[in-house]
Amino acid sequence: MKKVLVGFLSIFIILSSISLYNTFNNKPVANNSKVVLDPLPIDAIAHMGQAIQISTETPDDNYKYDSAIFYKYRQWMDLTYPTVKARLPRTIIDSFNYIYEWKGTDTSLLPIVLMAHYDVVPVEASAVKLWHAKPYGGEVKEGYIWGRGALDDKASMVSILEATEQLLKTSFQPKQTILLCFGSDEESNGRGALAMVKYFKSQHQRFDLVVDEGGEISTEDMKDVKHPIASIGVGEKGYVTLVLTAQKEGGHSSIPGKTSSIDLLSKAIYKLREKEMPAKIIPPIKAYLTRTSAYTDNFWKKMSLSNLWLFEKWVLNDMSEAPASNALIRTTIVPTVFNSGVRDNVIPTFATAYVNSRILPGETQQDVFNFVTKTINDTQIKVTYYPNYSTLPSSTTDINSSAFKRVEKAINATIDNVVIAPVIMVGATDSRSYRDLSDGVVNFSPLTNAKGYHGIDERLLITDLQKGIQYYTLLIKGEK
Ligand SMILES: [Zn+2]
Repeated sequence: MKKVLVGFLSIFIILSSISLYNTFNNKPVANNSKVVLDPLPIDAIAHMGQAIQISTETPDDNYKYDSAIFYKYRQWMDLTYPTVKARLPRTIIDSFNYIYEWKGTDTSLLPIVLMAHYDVVPVEASAVKLWHAKPYGGEVKEGYIWGRGALDDKASMVSILEATEQLLKTSFQPKQTILLCFGSDEESNGRGALAMVKYFKSQHQRFDLVVDEGGEISTEDMKDVKHPIASIGVGEKGYVTLVLTAQKEGGHSSIPGKTSSIDLLSKAIYKLREKEMPAKIIPPIKAYLTRTSAYTDNFWKKMSLSNLWLFEKWVLNDMSEAPASNALIRTTIVPTVFNSGVRDNVIPTFATAYVNSRILPGETQQDVFNFVTKTINDTQIKVTYYPNYSTLPSSTTDINSSAFKRVEKAINATIDNVVIAPVIMVGATDSRSYRDLSDGVVNFSPLTNAKGYHGIDERLLITDLQKGIQYYTLLIKGEK
């Protein structure tokens, strides 16, 4: 008995010592210098407002543009950024997508791509009255610039153009070639980005770094971390939709049978909502947890996150609680469409549902399919793939790569006391298709606690515009 006790005690002491060692060794990565932001270029705020005023609503599914508006936007760009227009050759892809090329001094190096899109989602007519500013007014008040597109994604585009215009006016020349790629349909079908990637592929082009929207700064993500957290997207989840169909003889609703197609399908959906695909911590998320936990003042949290080898199960349980963190640790599955019935007195023969899944890197569409069929476990439910769109999870960018480090440096020199942590993007972005052309795709723009995406009161903090311009200036310079 004594021997067993001594054994347990030794194991306990060993585990505790390792855990404590890892906890105290998980030190913040210092962000040394105090950040001094460059002043905003003259008229940058006015330019942002003007960009919003041109209501470049995304083309519809048939790829129909309101051409007059998109031409107007091009004219505005040419007029507002005359040095960019005069000095950087522009290639136009499929009418309204633009590639500007700024030749580097060393053309043996792979170029850098700065991406943004300037189409915006439409403003709901019924919601206009809920806005606190005109949706296409570009008004400046309360420290913000207001309107559709202020965040998504004209902030990036205007910041890139302001930074480039300013740098072009100096004697600066980039070492690596810089390409500015502006898309016109990210919010609808993303064909512009695909066409640009196709164009680059035809030229056998590869890139050192590709930066797109996606990751941002939050001061609200972890309440026990008193620093802003910059989440940098280093990969994207995959996407698949499955169609579930139940078939059961229908008929008159006055003589119902024991089960109907609706009952069968409801049961199947219920089972799917009761069970989730297994959770796991993939490498970028592990890095996110380690880096952010170095700054927490909650000792137990720091200890568990610094010792995932011991506390992984506990951490996974905790992360499963909130939808945002749950989406980072597993493939999610959720019903999005549920259809059946034609009349109130007819029992329908068919019931169908779509379930949409976002696939964690390391898993496939087949894994989702297998999980769904096994969980439903009912031969009366037919499961098929929804044919319109599906994609595997993307590869992930290495956080030790020069591409990631360049972005990291630019953020450190733009945001005070920032914690930089990699994440995976749970939704899809235009930059996904660039992953065939580069190992260094990252998603980040320095927007802080941004709210109003696709909704009412979309607005950009003026200080975020200032940060954006500084961030892109430093990315282009690649120093500091
Ligand atoms: Zn966007």
